[in-house]
Amino acid sequence: MTEPAVRARDLTLRYRGGGGSRPVQAITGLTLDIAPGETLAILGDAGSGKSTLARAVAGYTSRSVPRGVEIAGGALEVLGVDVRRLHRRDDDELALRVGYVPQDAGLVLDPHLTVAENVSLPLFQRDRAFSKSRAGGIVAEAIDAMHLTLATMPKYPHELSRGQRQRVAIARALVLDPELLVADEATAGVDATVRGSILGHLAEVQRRRGFAALVVSSEIGEVRRLSHRLAVLHRGAIVGMGGIDEVLDAPAHPYVHRLAELARARAS
Ligand code: ADP
Ligand code: MG
Repeated sequence: MTEPAVRARDLTLRYRGGGGSRPVQAITGLTLDIAPGETLAILGDAGSGKSTLARAVAGYTSRSVPRGVEIAGGALEVLGVDVRRLHRRDDDELALRVGYVPQDAGLVLDPHLTVAENVSLPLFQRDRAFSKSRAGGIVAEAIDAMHLTLATMPKYPHELSRGQRQRVAIARALVLDPELLVADEATAGVDATVRGSILGHLAEVQRRRGFAALVVSSEIGEVRRLSHRLAVLHRGAIVGMGGIDEVLDAPAHPYVHRLAELARARAS
């Protein structure tokens, strides 16, 4: 496969205002590529459009889900699929090929299903007749890859810590062996001590399986653990992109300059 995993050209994304309110333009004129197997980190402050971009790349657009984000201009191709042409999310071409860990992923786990049932859900969504015993094996491996013990499998989400729930959500996003992982602040709200180990496990799984990834973060230390390449978003536009040190050492935008100073202060 030589086509990029993600290819955005002059992409503009917006939300339609409900009840007569004006549409919100969240991403303006964004251009980026992610090569197969490559990780690109997205960094930016709150409201800069990180989650909106993640949502669109994961295929959650206004054509595929209710209240999804609308592609208002430009082009977005994910794994060679034109996202502007997607239909219903459940059976579109991307649903099975892109793993998505939305922001506050722990909250999207089904509270009435056990951890094992939550993680195996995508397997049965893909194929209702999927073998239960094969699913058991795949789920156990996914749980283990995120360094959760097998004793968590019969538990319900509310019985887990926030960090454990995030890891279950990541395991679920990886269970179909995606070609692309979209992770939106997968460690937000998780204890700093646990955060490092979640990132370590994620980086390890990625090295082993070699999927491409778009990783949203609000923290430069976290970015360094997962990626060599960085795009900085500010008010919906890219204000710096390239190798992490390349971006921080030659900040071309005042916001990137502040980020670089912050990173230096932390490192010293
Ligand atoms: P970030 O993830 O970087 O904090 P978001 O992508 O969540 O930023 O938000 C970018 C902009 O889009 C913000 O102005 C936010 O208010 C707006 N926005 C986000 N989600 C929605 C939505 N569902 N409907 C309308 N506006 C939204
Ligand atoms: Mg966000």
